[in-house]
Amino acid sequence: MNLILLGAPGAGKGTQAEKISGKLGIPQISTGNMLREAVKNGTPMGLRAKEAMDSGALVSDEIVIGILKDRIAQDDAQDGFILDGFPRTVAQAEALEQMGITIDKVLEVHVPDDRICARMSGRRVCEACGASYHIDFKPTKTEGVCDACGGKTVQRADDTPETVLSRLAVYHEKTAPLKDFYGTRGKLVTVEGQQEIDETTKLVFEALGIDE
Ligand code: ADP
Ligand code: ADP
Ligand code: ZN
Repeated sequence: MNLILLGAPGAGKGTQAEKISGKLGIPQISTGNMLREAVKNGTPMGLRAKEAMDSGALVSDEIVIGILKDRIAQDDAQDGFILDGFPRTVAQAEALEQMGITIDKVLEVHVPDDRICARMSGRRVCEACGASYHIDFKPTKTEGVCDACGGKTVQRADDTPETVLSRLAVYHEKTAPLKDFYGTRGKLVTVEGQQEIDETTKLVFEALGIDE
């Protein structure tokens, strides 16, 4: 199954992608995590992406499409994958089609903007594996330490209130049009993402026809 998770920054795409990945045994592919890794390692691509990421803008289609193409060519993605944070523009969605990739379903996790702002201030992410936590709603067992890999959990530089507002504006302008793009292709399913994490997972599994 090739899936796309669509939704505003902080809607819970990463959180739900982890659950689907665990259930179906297909990888979660997060362009945001890959870009943060490149920035951390100071690669040429990371250097090019950093300014856009810090300001809450999108990284260029050219860079992101390149990363995605390489990633889905890897062995572990041959039986399916979950795209988390890609595509984010119509040009990226068209690039996927041009690569001949068939998408089975596009799952939109819907959360209104005012809820997002409250969520983001408590988000913590693992520096090593990218796993996403929340100080109140999904705390790590030991403060500051990733449950999954033992890495250090930190606040993202772009999770400040001002940058979150710019990212929401970018989402509505550039990414929300993908709902129509995939809607007209009969691929879009929407779930409410405002309830607790486990409740949302139930809705997500139901929408994808996965047994719990
Ligand atoms: P969030 O989880 O808050 O939606 P991500 O981790 O997906 O954020 O992305 C963080 C940042 O990385 C984005 O604000 C953007 O600068 C960049 N980015 C990630 N994926 C893409 C993409 N598909 N196209 C362009 N920029 C991207
Ligand atoms: P995205 O990948 O869409 O940017 P995340 O999965 O990283 O979003 O979730 C954003 C933040 O909100 C994280 O701190 C996460 O733990 C928390 N979160 C995710 N889903 C829920 C939910 N249903 N209720 C409360 N908090 C949530
Ligand atoms: Zn980790």
